[in-house]
Amino acid sequence: MRGNDDKPIDNTDYDLVIVGAGLVGATLACAIAQTDAAQNLRIAVIEASSEVQHFSGDHFDPRVVALTHASQKLLTDIGCWDGIVAQRVCVYREMKVWDGEGTAAIEFDCAEVQQSHLGHIVENSVIVNQLRERMAQHKNIFLIQPAAVAQVIPAQAEFPRVRVQLSNGDEITTTLLIAADGAQSKVRELAEFSTREWDYGQQAIITTVRTEQPHEFTAWQRFMHTGPLAFLPLQHNGAEHSCSIVWSADDVLATELMALGDEAFCARLTTAFEARLGRVISCDKRYAIPLRQRHATTYIQPGIALVGDAAHNIHPLAGQGVNLGLQDVLVLAQEIERALARGIPLADYSILRRYQRQRLAGNLGMMTAMEGFKRLFGNRSLSVNWLRNTGMRQLNSVAAIKKIIINSALGVS
Ligand SMILES: Cc1cc2nc3c(=O)[nH]c(=O)nc-3n(C[C@H](O)[C@H](O)[C@H](O)COP(=O)(O)OP(=O)(O)OC[C@H]3O[C@@H](n4cnc5c(N)ncnc54)[C@H](O)[C@@H]3O)c2cc1C
Repeated sequence: MRGNDDKPIDNTDYDLVIVGAGLVGATLACAIAQTDAAQNLRIAVIEASSEVQHFSGDHFDPRVVALTHASQKLLTDIGCWDGIVAQRVCVYREMKVWDGEGTAAIEFDCAEVQQSHLGHIVENSVIVNQLRERMAQHKNIFLIQPAAVAQVIPAQAEFPRVRVQLSNGDEITTTLLIAADGAQSKVRELAEFSTREWDYGQQAIITTVRTEQPHEFTAWQRFMHTGPLAFLPLQHNGAEHSCSIVWSADDVLATELMALGDEAFCARLTTAFEARLGRVISCDKRYAIPLRQRHATTYIQPGIALVGDAAHNIHPLAGQGVNLGLQDVLVLAQEIERALARGIPLADYSILRRYQRQRLAGNLGMMTAMEGFKRLFGNRSLSVNWLRNTGMRQLNSVAAIKKIIINSALGVS
């Protein structure tokens, strides 16, 4: 079996195995590995992909996330944030959201909550590269890559450890298995976790665009009955004319938009965005991601836990997916640290129960709220349209309520 070059794998038994070294899994590995109580743990991280892509110059990763203050703090605490900033990030200080089929709008400004910014737009690959570098610095983390999980055999009375078989035929065992292997989680499937899920009937078209006017360090979102369109600011060498777009569109429209040539697509995008940043001048390669709502009905089984997208998948309109996943990380890492400090064995199910109790209901609440939002804007009836517009206008004028919303979106409330 192969691991990090300087950390040969001398045996195949681990205390903790995390499947997936994406945004959530790699953060979790670092968060646990850095605690004093975990210095003697053996933590394996299994990652299916071989390398993370690097984007530089005015080439941006088409996958970006809007990170809240709470996520920034976690990445700071595990020693990654400075490296992420050194690669590149773009702050956003304002958020402008408006109803494309009415006149209402709501605007959030960081000054309203005495903050210097509302959040950061960061390319996924920038975060993952930094996390992988940090993982390599921890002597108690063993990255097994590229390797995909092929089979999971839960702990049994006659063999009280979880067995994880890899696609190359190797097998490792662990006390605790954590699935951070994303929306299509193989571990979730193999361990037979049940989910509630349905198709949104929409696809998110993502790409990077250049606009005539600067983005004003603002995250923009226009709601249409066919789905929301977001422009998220990016920055390279001080230039402020690049944005990452997420255009969530009903399947038929998405197929039509994907079939357009670049010039025609940019023209459609300019119109859909009401030319708020002037003309969309150019776009990079487009990707269409089918959108699905999915929530595991339970996050835990004896010896196995789900975190991040493996546990919950949310519509990108809220820009909250990874922020929720990083809150899972914070809680699970704290529970593991607490148990280790008290001499509670990792196999003790109370650790996972405490994690689930703190995370499942909150994630469900956020998912339900976003579902309501999506349906509210997807509805074309005149009365709903009137209610929506009136509600948004009133919300925009009540400073105290706006402050509560901004603070909870930042994760600083
Ligand atoms: C269009 C779009 C826009 C979004 N914008 C935002 C945003 O603004 N803010 C936000 O908070 N969230 C956003 N999200 C959500 C965010 O991208 C996800 O929540 C986040 O990527 C989840 O991280 P994860 O680590 O759980 O999963 P992933 O990022 O999917 O990582 C999973 C990892 O597991 C590995 N893996 C998979 N299967 C296996 C296997 N069998 N064996 C071993 N390894 C495996 C993969 O290679 C990968 O490295 C957006 C999502 C989309 C689709």
